[in-house]
This record gives sequence, structure tokens and C-alpha cells, in this order.
Amino acid sequence: MSLPFNIAIDGFSSCGKSTIAKSIAYKYKMRYVDTGAMYRAVTLYFMKKNIIVDKIVDFDLLLNSLNSISINFNYNSGTKNSETFLNGVNVENEIRGIDVSNNVSIISQVKQVREKLIAWQQEIGRHKNVVMDGRDIGTKVFPEAKIKLFVTARLEIRAKRRHDELIKNGNNISFNEVKKNINDRDMYDINRTVNPLKQAKDAILFDNSDLSINDQNALIEDLINNIR
Ligand code: C5P
Repeated sequence: MSLPFNIAIDGFSSCGKSTIAKSIAYKYKMRYVDTGAMYRAVTLYFMKKNIIVDKIVDFDLLLNSLNSISINFNYNSGTKNSETFLNGVNVENEIRGIDVSNNVSIISQVKQVREKLIAWQQEIGRHKNVVMDGRDIGTKVFPEAKIKLFVTARLEIRAKRRHDELIKNGNNISFNEVKKNINDRDMYDINRTVNPLKQAKDAILFDNSDLSINDQNALIEDLINNIR
């Protein structure tokens, strides 16, 4: 593979993008970057500083504090997962909770937030082969990516998968609340003015509603081997 060989995985909320991305990264020895975690970490920072309260954003404060935020990913050999650190503190669990989920799509509409995160993302992909998942990777972050997937699944199925995961991780939350959050985020992400979620012209549409993870991995491996 010649450098940089980037794979862009975009799609709707909770459709299994990260499962696909991790499995590709493992198989082809590429670096996996979860851009949703970056938007979530920035959102958590603004929540803690009361820069977003009741879904109302203080834009002056937000712009003034953007440069005080640093985000890193560190591999945890115990869980075999990369974990998100906000200004040096591990926030991996906190950013996955419903409070951050209910605010993140408001913060991710802000042009200056996107510009900052996209610059980081592009820098990571400049020298390494990366597989990156998000909403605008194929359209904006790596428009030249060698492989682009646009992943989707039926809303009920996505909500069930996400609800199961949240319950497994000890959260007490109803299926309907999870479903509403997923649907709301999709609406924000599709309709925002700056880099909305949409399928890149050269992306392959992939609906995994009725696929097991093994079937999905096999299909995607075939696809990558045919394109490489
Ligand atoms: O991928 P995940 O569901 O964790 O992303 C959380 C939110 O972050 C999305 O709903 C979206 O608002 C935002 N996001 C984005 N652009 C990306 C990745 C995530 O706007 N590239």
C-alpha cells in the first residue's frame, strides 16, 4: 500500500461504522481514528465549562476556549481499545453517555469547531494509513480517500444495537430515549449548513441492517481487496 492510503467511513448514527472501521484497521494494519469521539470530547469540555447549557451555546466563550482543548487517543491493552483523553483526562466512558449524545450535534454544527477538528484529522492522515469514521470524512476530510463507504441501517435496528450497548455498559436508559436521540442527531447532522452528513458521489452505499458482523466483515474485505 502506498502512503497515504485512507479509508473513509461515513454514515448515520449508531450504524456500526466503528465496528467496520476497527476491523479494517486490524486486518490491514492501519490506524483507526474515531472522529465522533473528538466531537464528543469537545462537547463534554463545553458542557463542563457551562458554554452549552440547556442546548443554548455561548458563542463568544466557545470561540475563546477552543484553543484550550487538547484531545488524544491512547491504546488500552487491557480492553484492546483506543481511549479518548480530554486535556490529559480519560473521558472515554463519559463521552458515550446520553448527556453528551444529546448535545454533540449542536456543537458539531459550529464552523470553527469543525475547522479545528478537521485540521487535526487531516494532519493524522497525512503520514499514516488511516481508516477514519464520521460524517464528513469522504466529503470533506479526505475527499481523495481510496475507499469510501456510506453505512446505513434501519432506525429500529440502530436504536436496538445502541440501547443494548448502553445497557451492557451499566446505563439505565429506555429504548425510546435512545431511538429519539439517534433520530434527532441524524436530523441535525443531515440538515446542518456546514459539512452536512451526505453520501460522497464516489462512496459505496452499505446497508448492514440484516447482516451479522461476520458477514459484514467478509463483504467489506472483498470490497477492499477488489479496489486495492
Ligand atoms: O460517531 P458518533 O455517533 O460518536 O458522533 C457523534 C456526533 O458527532 C454525530 O452525531 C455528529 O453530530 C458529530 N460528528 C460530526 N462529524 C464527524 C463525526 C461526528 O459532525 N466527522
